[in-house]
Amino acid sequence: MSEAVLSARIERTEMGKRKKRREKLTRHHIKNTCDGGKDTLRNIIYLRSEKHQHWHNLFDNKDFDEVAILLLKADRIWKVLFGNKTFEEAAQVLIRASEMKRRAK
Ligand SMILES: [Zn+2]
Repeated sequence: MSEAVLSARIERTEMGKRKKRREKLTRHHIKNTCDGGKDTLRNIIYLRSEKHQHWHNLFDNKDFDEVAILLLKADRIWKVLFGNKTFEEAAQVLIRASEMKRRAK
């Protein structure tokens, strides 16, 4: 198989994967049904399955206002604790601190 044919196949496969990913939409209730939110179009947004899962992993069933307040608080606290570090840089600091603690025992 020529490199060009192989490349075209890979490209088609990647496009197919992207299309499939886009098609996996899930329904998210703006106001939770357990808080009295209705199962109506006005109360539903569609999120890609992966994004929906991440939302609930991070924010459980909090509503948009609660998440906005949480993010503002987290931003303030983050700046105090880690300044302008990225998540990855902060994780590296914590990993190094943890290693130092282990060695000190
Ligand atoms: Zn949801």
